[in-house]
Amino acid sequence: MHPLAELDHRYLWHPFTQMRDWLKREPILIVEGKGAVLRDARGREYLDANSSIWTNLHGHNHPRINAALRQQLRKIAHSSALGLASEPAALLAEKLIVAANPSLVAQASSLRVKRASPPAARQPPGAQPALRRVFFSDDGSTAMEVALKLAYEFTRRTGRSRQPKFLSLQGAYHGDTVGAVSLGHIDLFHKAYAGLLFKSDQVMAPYCYRCPFNRARPERADARDYRKCDWECLGKLERKFEAQKKRGNPYAGFAFEPLMQGSAGMVPQPAGWLSRAAGIARAHGALLIADEVMTGFGRTGLGAEREGERPREPKHLAESGLARTLALPLFACHHEGVQPDFMALAKGLTGGYLPMAATLTTQAVFDAFLGEYDEFKTFFHGHSFTANQLGSAAALASLEILRTPASVRARRRLAQTLRDELQTLWRWPHVGDVRQVGLVVGIELVRNWRTREPFHLRERAGIRVCEALAQRGVLTRPIGNVVVLMPPYCTTPEQARRMVSALGAAMAVFAERS
Ligand code: PMP
Repeated sequence: MHPLAELDHRYLWHPFTQMRDWLKREPILIVEGKGAVLRDARGREYLDANSSIWTNLHGHNHPRINAALRQQLRKIAHSSALGLASEPAALLAEKLIVAANPSLVAQASSLRVKRASPPAARQPPGAQPALRRVFFSDDGSTAMEVALKLAYEFTRRTGRSRQPKFLSLQGAYHGDTVGAVSLGHIDLFHKAYAGLLFKSDQVMAPYCYRCPFNRARPERADARDYRKCDWECLGKLERKFEAQKKRGNPYAGFAFEPLMQGSAGMVPQPAGWLSRAAGIARAHGALLIADEVMTGFGRTGLGAEREGERPREPKHLAESGLARTLALPLFACHHEGVQPDFMALAKGLTGGYLPMAATLTTQAVFDAFLGEYDEFKTFFHGHSFTANQLGSAAALASLEILRTPASVRARRRLAQTLRDELQTLWRWPHVGDVRQVGLVVGIELVRNWRTREPFHLRERAGIRVCEALAQRGVLTRPIGNVVVLMPPYCTTPEQARRMVSALGAAMAVFAERS
C-alpha cells in the first residue's frame, strides 16, 4: 500500500463513508488535478465526473484562479470580518448582488416555462424582492443555517409568528449542521438525530419518475417528458399551506432546491413547478429560502437547453459579449423568474477551490436587525473564516470566468454533448430514468425498467456501477441507486463522451453480474 494511503487508513475518518469498507482496500489518493483530470499517487488518471462533489466549476489548476490566489497571497491570506472590512470581500459582495438580481429575471426563461405550464399564473414580477445583502460563511450547511436563523428571527421580529415554522421538500437535504438537518427529510441521514432537531414539515416533491400520481407507463425517456398527471404535487403543496394557515401559524418559510434536488437523488422539477410553487408560498406569506448550494453558478444550464433552443438575448445587449453573458442567469431560481428572500450559495462560489459560502437576503431582513447597540438586535452569528480573503479572491476570478463568452460556449456545448451521449444509455435494462438539468445528470438504476422496481440499497447497485466506472478512469459518487454525472465546465466533448461510454461499459458489467 502507498505510505500515504497507510497514513490515511491509520488516522482518517471519511465523510459519508462506511469505514469498515474503506479500510478493506487501498484508496485512490489524489495528488494532482488539471482541467477535468485528476491524477493519483500511482500516476493513474481519472476524469472528475462529479466535479469533486459538485464544487469545481472551471477545472482544476485553472490559470486565472491560480493567478488571483497568488496575487492575493502576496497581500494577505485572511483577516477577520468581525470588526474589519477587506478589499476582495467587498468587491465580491457587490458582484454577487449584481449576479443575483438580473434585471431580466421576469423574462429570463419564460422559455423554460412555456412547454408545460401548470394551471395557474406565475408570480407577478412586481412581487419579487431584491437581494441586497451578503452574509458570508464557510460551506453549504452554514449558508443554510444563516438563512434559517435570519428567517426565524425576522419572522418573530416582524410579529408574523412567535414560533416560526418551516416547510421543505420530501427528500430535502440542506446540510449536516443541526439546523440544516432539521430542514432535511432523508431518513437514512437524519433520523438518528431526531432528538437533536427542531421539527419542520415536509411536502411532496415533484419526483415524476416515482410519482404515485404519474399515470404514464415507463418509457425510455426522462419521466418528466412523458408523465401524465394533473400537477397533484402542486395541489398537495397548496393544501399544506392552507392547513397550516388554518392552524393559526402560517409557514414562516419554504426551503427548496430550485430545479433539481441533489442529494434526494438528482430529482428534477418539471418545467413550471418552481414558479408555481414559489407563487403558492408567497401567496401564503412564506419567505422563500432557495438552497442554490448545488444549483448555483451555472450548474443548471443557460436557460433553454431542455427545449433545444438558444437562450433569448435582448437585442440591445447582443452587441457586446459581456452584456450578453450578463443577461444569462447564473442561478436556478432565475430560470423560472423566481426571486427568493434568501439565497444560499457555496460549493461553486470559489470555483470549487476553497470552502466559502454566502447567504444573500433582502433589505427588509437586514433592516430588522438594525437598532441601537443596547437594543441587541445584532445578528449574533459568525465564523472565524467568514469572508476569507483568499476565498473571496478565488470567487471573484471564478465569476469573471463564468461571464466570458468562452465559458458560456463551453457550457452550452457540454450540456448538448451530454444530452446526445446520454441517449446511448437507454439500451441498458437497468437504466430506469436519465434526467438532465443543464450540467447535472442523474441516472436512476432499477432492477426492471418496465416496472420501475428499485434495487434494495443493500445491493449497492450505485456503488458497484461507480466502482466499475473508476476502473475505467471515471470518478463519481452515487446517491443510492442514482449515478451522478456533473462534470466541470471545462470538460471537452471528447471527455464527456468518454465519461458516458465508460458508464455504458460499467452498466454492461453490472448487467452481467446482476
Ligand atoms: N445544500 C445542498 C443542496 C447541498 O447539496 C449540500 C452539500 N451536498 C449542502 C447544502 C451542504 O453543503 P456543505 O457540504 O458544503 O456543508
